[in-house]
Amino acid sequence: MLGRRAFCKSFAAAVAVAPFIAPARALEAADVAPPTLLWLRRGSDEAMIDYSTDQGFSAVAWMLRDVRAGVVGVPEWRLLQQWSWMQAWLAAYGRHVRFDIHSGLRTKETNAHYEGALASYHLPDARGVFRAGDFSTPSIPSEYMGRLAYLSQQGGVGLYARDFIHTDVRGRTLAWRSR
Ligand SMILES: [Zn+2]
Repeated sequence: MLGRRAFCKSFAAAVAVAPFIAPARALEAADVAPPTLLWLRRGSDEAMIDYSTDQGFSAVAWMLRDVRAGVVGVPEWRLLQQWSWMQAWLAAYGRHVRFDIHSGLRTKETNAHYEGALASYHLPDARGVFRAGDFSTPSIPSEYMGRLAYLSQQGGVGLYARDFIHTDVRGRTLAWRSR
């Protein structure tokens, strides 16, 4: 765990080098709908997906499935919007970044297997909706991606030493570090 003060300090440093307006404000100011495109990879599957179509949404749900249990869930729309906003933000600065999925939906059994938090946002609710995903990127350090996710103020951001980040859309913003 990174102490709150330490994170705020590193966060302030990130903001200092961040481009002109805070992304959260840029989101509010945007008259156009946020993009619904995601460039994802899971194992040997890789695709640029428009999840605003039924087919695209199913494809993203498949990419974010519980591989161990063989179960496909329903990703929360705001999670997909957060991720495509992050990709769009980087693309605006000339960086086209693929998200390599480590984990999306987790059944109770899979979550227990990986010793996940009991109240994990990877777990599906009664309607099968899950609100968290873990990913890394081949070209941008996870540290930077974590800060960008934090700037979007959608929920939890976890920075993992194994070089991936967790984001969820629980609404309340918080951040942590873990192994
Ligand atoms: Zn996670």
